[in-house]
Amino acid sequence: MHLEGCRVQEDEESFSVLRKESLGVQIKLGVITREEIIRRKFREFYEKKYRDITYPTRIMEREFGFLVFKEGIMVRHRSFRDYSELQDYIRTTVPSDAYYSTAYYQRPEEEMEKKGWLGTDLCFDIDADHLNTVCKQTHDSWKCLECGKGGFGEAPKKCPKCKGKRFEEKNWFCKDCLQAAKDETIKLIDVLKADFGLPLSKLEACFSGNRGFHIHVEDKGLIGLDQWARKEIVDYLLGSGIDLSHYGIPSEGNKRGNIIMNVDSKTLGWGGRVIKYIYDYLSSADEKKLKEVKGIDGLIVKTILENRESILSELVNKAALKTFEGLNVKTWEDIAESALKANAIKIDTVVTIDIHRLIRLPYTLHRKTGFKVVVIPVEELAAFDPFADAVAFKDGVFKVHVQDVQRFEISKTEYGPYKDEVVELPTAAAMLLLCKGFADPV
Ligand SMILES: [Zn+2]
Ligand SMILES: [Zn+2]
Repeated sequence: MHLEGCRVQEDEESFSVLRKESLGVQIKLGVITREEIIRRKFREFYEKKYRDITYPTRIMEREFGFLVFKEGIMVRHRSFRDYSELQDYIRTTVPSDAYYSTAYYQRPEEEMEKKGWLGTDLCFDIDADHLNTVCKQTHDSWKCLECGKGGFGEAPKKCPKCKGKRFEEKNWFCKDCLQAAKDETIKLIDVLKADFGLPLSKLEACFSGNRGFHIHVEDKGLIGLDQWARKEIVDYLLGSGIDLSHYGIPSEGNKRGNIIMNVDSKTLGWGGRVIKYIYDYLSSADEKKLKEVKGIDGLIVKTILENRESILSELVNKAALKTFEGLNVKTWEDIAESALKANAIKIDTVVTIDIHRLIRLPYTLHRKTGFKVVVIPVEELAAFDPFADAVAFKDGVFKVHVQDVQRFEISKTEYGPYKDEVVELPTAAAMLLLCKGFADPV
């Protein structure tokens, strides 16, 4: 697990590699000024806002890491005595990205083997990158650096034309991506509260500044969990390895007759969630939605629609899954399996399991967006709007040449779409386009 310990978040790591690539291209084209402008704006921001950096707790026991502008290299194993020292460091060095360890160490500045691990906060990461949102096909694209082939959506592992593995990727993010990530985060909070009994006061949400959210749990009783214990938590959240027979849904035998379950919608944990899902699924009259479950054909949909009331009444009153010709035990198993899948919480498992992880430091800037990393009280998460509440650059305007971008919103105002044109934009909007690589300074 030591190798894992040397990683920052996966998406950020691949980002630093990519950035080195694109930097090469920039130098060749003589448009290095994009990086310079971004750094200059970051510097101005930190000159004014460096005192806002008051995170994390137990600062002396944390390791810090910083990505350096231009080189894209990671400076890590840094430690600070207090916030003032950390703030001054960021103000004077102006990193492109800043991270801290979720772990506590006796000697955070030493190399991994000598640090003296004291514990790690429990941490969860939900990233729109890992969610299957339809909008990605419209706003993400890739181009093979070997042969020039390109396409929409996520880059493939290998180029379908030349089998090359180096790509230039353009990732945009939209309200739908971030809403999906937020919904998933709220789902996670509900489970941590209901199933793990964690009080909301122990949970802190954090917008990563780009496409995701983190949940931090600081609790003395949890920091000592090793990676295997954390793996158990991950498995629970993913619902992996759940045996449906625990809930009275047989996999073998009993192929005829109704299924009588031993759980109802009030049962805590997965049992209750499976029932609730089945109930919601059945009460929805939408034929298309009913067909989404594997193994459900037109005949079964017809049976469900014709007998829905009696099925629902048996489910609510007797915890029974009523069988019919066509809608048999096997079909109910498929529906229950689908309930498990739909309720799995799509966390980035590595972030939770790795006890030496570095994650983004709140109130610093994200190089890919120019947005701030923001801590959000969990009860305010539903109302949080990243495109307004995480905006860092609130003053001034400047001109950029935009290559191609779809309509987007910053601080409740809409901009674009733009294609190959020079536009004067508020700093936050211009910075977003520059940071994403969709525009160049004029
Ligand atoms: Zn190729
Ligand atoms: Zn999107």
